[in-house]
Formats: sequence, C-alpha cells, structure tokens
Amino acid sequence: MILTLIVGVAAVAALLIGATSLLLRAAAGPPQSSPASRASTVASELVTSRTTTSTGAATSTPSAIAGVSDSEQASEPAVPHPHVPVVGTGAAASATTTLAAGTSLHAGDVVVIDAGHQGRADMRLEPIGPGSTQMKPCVESGTQGVVTHVPESLVNLEVALKLEKALEAHGVKVIMVRTTQKVDIPNSKRAGIANSAHAALFIRLHCDGVNSPSAHGFLMLRPGVNRWTGPIVALSKIAAGLVDKAVLGTTGALDRGTQVRNDLSGFNWSKVPTILVEMGVMTNPSEDRKLSTASYQQEIADGMANGVVQYLHGR
Ligand SMILES: [Zn+2]
Repeated sequence: MILTLIVGVAAVAALLIGATSLLLRAAAGPPQSSPASRASTVASELVTSRTTTSTGAATSTPSAIAGVSDSEQASEPAVPHPHVPVVGTGAAASATTTLAAGTSLHAGDVVVIDAGHQGRADMRLEPIGPGSTQMKPCVESGTQGVVTHVPESLVNLEVALKLEKALEAHGVKVIMVRTTQKVDIPNSKRAGIANSAHAALFIRLHCDGVNSPSAHGFLMLRPGVNRWTGPIVALSKIAAGLVDKAVLGTTGALDRGTQVRNDLSGFNWSKVPTILVEMGVMTNPSEDRKLSTASYQQEIADGMANGVVQYLHGR
C-alpha cells in the first residue's frame, strides 16, 4: 500500500517535472507565434502596405513572402535590442537638447548611410537573411535615368554624400558604407557594417525604376516582421514615418506611401533599425532630370537629415 503510494507519488512527480520542462522549453523557444499566424501577419502587413502605395511597384507577391516564414521555421535566438540598455542618455536629456547645428544628440549615436548599388553589379548569390535557403544577388545593378542615362548607383552616392554632410552639421556621427563607385560590398555586408557600428539607424538610399513612365514620387520601405527582424521593426517604423514626412516636406515630391518588405537582404541581415528610401523614379523623364541636379539632391538630403535627427531625439 505504502509502496504503491510512493510509486504513485513518484509517477505524479515525474509527470509534473516532465510537464514543467516542456513548459520551460516552450517559454524559452524563439517562436512567438505559429508559422501560420506569422505568415498571416506578414500577409496582412503586405495588404496594408499595398493600400498605402499609389503605384504598383511591389515586386514580390504576398504568397511568396509569406512562404519565407512558412518554410523557414524560426530557429535563431532573438537578438537583444541594441538600444534598450542605453545608460546615461535618457529621454529627459534628449528632450531638452536643441536641434542647433553641432549639438551632440545621444552620446555615441551613429548613423550608417548606404548608397545603394555600386559601379558594377555583383550577381553572385547570397541568402536573403542569416541561415536562409532563399538567395538573391549580392548587389543588383539598379535602374538608370530614362533620359539622362545616369546610373542609379551614382545618384544614390551623390545624395549619400550630401546626407553625410547634413547629418554631421547636426552633430551626428556618420559612417558611409561607400564613398566611391569602385567597391564590391554585398548587401549582407552592408548591414554588417551597420551592425558592427551598433548604428542608431541604417539608412539605405535608392532610386526606383517602374514600368509606367508617368509614375513618380518618393517611396519609403521598412522591414516587416519575420524570423530576423523582430527587434528592429518598431524603431524602423518610427524612423520611416519621420523621414518620409520630412522629405515630402523639403521636396514637395508625390507621396508614394510606404511598403513593408520581408524580401530585402539589407533589412534581414540588419540587427539595427533600418529604412530604405526610393528617392524618386528614374523611369520618369522629369524626375530623372531632377534627381541629377545638385539642388534637388540637397532638398532630399536635408529632408532625410531632418527626419533622422527627429528620430534620434525621440529614441
Ligand atoms: Zn536600387
């Protein structure tokens, strides 16, 4: 009888231990949601993004992007947010900081600027995110001006150099991914530069090319929620909103809205908040011409700098 009781108690204890360890494992595991609900979140984000976009420039279908989450179970540990444990640079300090040129914002704030593309494309393939089986070219060639024939990579670089100066005038430390056309830096490595710098923001400069010659304007891209981007989505969204509004203000460009993207290597390899701006549409004759003028490039750069500084203050 006693023996039976002991055995019974032991059995119950074993069951409890087993259940507890299962619970602990469930709590420690990275997936916060099932693949199905993750995919539907991504899909609904895409639907939202499409409704805010006035041109049909999206290059990926919802099912293809949802498939990224579906087929690739989350298996990586969550990356701690780089800015959560900031010590000694509280919101109170930033709230009282003025926007005067040369003012230090948060001590050590670094913005990494990536002038999209480069002089020559690098069509070797790389995973679209750490551990992914989906591959994309390291650096695609980009678009070019329909009337100027200027390559997108050059416009991106020219604006990037202006943005560097504008941010430095605000006292922001800047790291440039590239300052010449003669580089070969895969998109994953570009994100790696931002990660190594623990950048407050990784801003990627591009121009668009679309099928319709009448399509023009400014388009913002930001990362969606997927197996890699969880820790950076919220701040990226804030930066996207502020930079978008500021650039539309300085340029008067047509607002093409915001796209939420899960298929961009430069987002998925980034462990710091990141946005991508499509500064204009080079397949539109008049916007192509404008994008190659120093004055319009300066308006874009000034707008981006204003938005970035607001973002740095608000973090
Ligand atoms: Zn581009």
